[in-house]
Order: sequence, then structure tokens, then C-alpha cells
Amino acid sequence: MTIQSVLLPSAKGTALRPFQARAVNALLKGCNVVCVAPTGTGKSRIYQEYLGRKPKRAIIVTPLNSLGGQIERQMCALAFRQVDIRDSGFVTSLTDTEVSSFLVLTPERLFHEANQSRIAAFEPELIIIDEAHCIFDWGKSFRPQFSELLRLHDWFPTIQSLWLSATLTRENLVQLRAYLESSFANTLEFELTLGISDQIELSFVNLNWQARLNFLKNHLIGANKKTCGIIFSSSRLKVEALAQRLKLSGVNCQFFHAGMSIEEKASVLKRFSSGDIEVLVSTVAFGMGMDFSGIEWVVLFEPLHSIASTVQALGRSGRANIGRAFCFFEESDWLSHRFESENERCRLVRLYTSFQCRRVHLMRELWGAESVKYSHCRDFHSAFCDNCK
Ligand SMILES: [Zn+2]
Repeated sequence: MTIQSVLLPSAKGTALRPFQARAVNALLKGCNVVCVAPTGTGKSRIYQEYLGRKPKRAIIVTPLNSLGGQIERQMCALAFRQVDIRDSGFVTSLTDTEVSSFLVLTPERLFHEANQSRIAAFEPELIIIDEAHCIFDWGKSFRPQFSELLRLHDWFPTIQSLWLSATLTRENLVQLRAYLESSFANTLEFELTLGISDQIELSFVNLNWQARLNFLKNHLIGANKKTCGIIFSSSRLKVEALAQRLKLSGVNCQFFHAGMSIEEKASVLKRFSSGDIEVLVSTVAFGMGMDFSGIEWVVLFEPLHSIASTVQALGRSGRANIGRAFCFFEESDWLSHRFESENERCRLVRLYTSFQCRRVHLMRELWGAESVKYSHCRDFHSAFCDNCK
């Protein structure tokens, strides 16, 4: 079944992306859903779409008041009804059941004794845990109320739940899965797309060093066309040398790495985002939190140090539109480069030489084979990898 957008004025006419549609479908079937997807890909659209289709009373749990404010403004703009439990008359305002109503709370406010009777009177049917990795990052000591979210059904025995994160690790996913499976039995769905957007065409290309430069010039950096891409390399020295080499052959590029001053980095990023620089040659310092939506292609000029850094680099493309990613390698790279560990080197060799779907292979490396029920790019309705073409 394909779900078209029914709701968002800001996205009118645009279909849901495949991972959003699958998560909305699972919610409509009554499942509890865990969705791990990169920042900027539209995780909040999942519950907005669901609440638009099926009126519910929902609690949205968020770690920060500033994030909560953003969520409230978005939800109000979509004409959902915001509820304020501090207002003693709030329950009487809920007689209209045609529209979803919502409460945005931090875990501290959600579990605070003084709020319990009012939250119970709200009779929540759905709870959305935004930034679910905070349960594990902060729950142990910094903000212990986060860990109460792993006893959610003790508080709300019949509530449906949606857990969203961009950075849940495999270890934390295992813990979350164990909790949810013990609490919600057969009605659990996982949607895991971390790092690799469903909009990336992914290719692994066996080339020597000179052929890599030729490939760039022939396929990505045409003399007469404007482009926007990032070339990742594994060290600061290599990044600077490669940028120099490309500049000499007329490419509008600049290097970027963690050894630069804050001012230098800010200036390069600003020029890159404005289109003043077309190609950035970077270490993985260009990474998380840098939400540039217009990057057309990403090249890993040689294998990076680990699977995690590979995923992070690939995740820079395919955010707003279809993106292309190319991973260059040759046999000697596996002997001459430095890797995070021998284990990481072996994992990367397996990925680069695999004949199965690259997307599935990466997801299995990240989440474990048992978590990934897909086998082909078709299963994601995504852009294809080279092995699925
Ligand atoms: Zn594939």
C-alpha cells in the first residue's frame, strides 16, 4: 500500500518517503514502532501523518524545552490541538474527538507526581519518544527520569508507542528491543535506516589512484556544469594534498578538517553552503549535525577507518533529493591504510567485496542480521545500490 501525503501544508503534494510510509502503516495497524533515521529526513512527519489520519490523544516526550517549543509550533501550524495540563479546564476542551490533541512534555514533567492525575485525565493513547537515545545517554545519572521510559507500560499499560532517534546505537537498540518485546509482544515494528538515506544511489568502484581522479573529472566535476559534492579522505594530510591537486586542475574546491581554526571552518562551510565552493575535500570532521540538504554526491576517495565513519560520510548525501555515493578502493588499500582496528578492517573488506545488497549489508553490520528483514534495495523502495541494479 502506498500512502500519499494527506496533511502537511508545507509538504503539500509530496508523497511520504518510503521509511515514513512504512512507519505510518505500522502505526495504523496498531504496532509500536521504533524508527531510526538520519537527522533531517523527516521523522516527525511520521506521527504528524498518523495523527492526521487517526485522531488520537498523544504525548510527545522531548529532552529539551527548546525542542518542545519547536514541536508545539509545528503541531499547532498543522491544526492539531495543543493541551496544557496546567490549565485546570483542559479536559473539558477535549470533547471534540475529530482532531488529534497533544501534550509536549520532558520526562521530568511526564513522571512528576504532581502531574499524574491530570495526565491520567488526558487518557493518552499514543506516546512519542523523540530523541530516544537520550534514555541511554542520559538516563543512568544525568537525568534519571529518562530511564523511567523503559518502564513505560507500568505507567500506561495500554498505550501505543513510537520511538524516534537518529543516533541509537546497536547496543542500545538491543536493550530497547528487549524491553519492548517483553512489554508489547507481537506488535513491534522496526524501521532502521540510520546513515544511509533511501535516496542514495550507492556504488563501490575498484580504481587505482590516478583512475580515481579521472573518474571525478569525467563523471562528477564537469568543466561546464555547476556541482555540489564532498570528497572524503582518511587523513588531514591526504585531504590537503588532494584539494591542492584538484585545484591545480581547475576544480573549485577547498579542504576541511578538524585541524583548522573555528573561524576557518566556519568560513569554508559558509562558502560551501552558498555555492561559492563547489567541492569540499574533507575528513569525517564534516559530519553529524551538518545539515546541508543540497549535496548531490559523496565520494569516499579511499576506505575510511571504520564502518561507522563510512556510514556517517555516506549519510551526507541523499537528504533532500536523490544523491549519489561512490566508494573507491583497490586491493592494496587494505594493506596500506590505517583502520580503527583489525576487526573494522575485516568488516570494511566484507562490505567492499560483498555481492549482496550494500544497503542491507550495511544495516546488518549496524543492527545485526536478526534486526534486518530486508534483502534488496527494492524492499526499501529506495534508490539502488550497484549490486541491486
Ligand atoms: Zn541494494
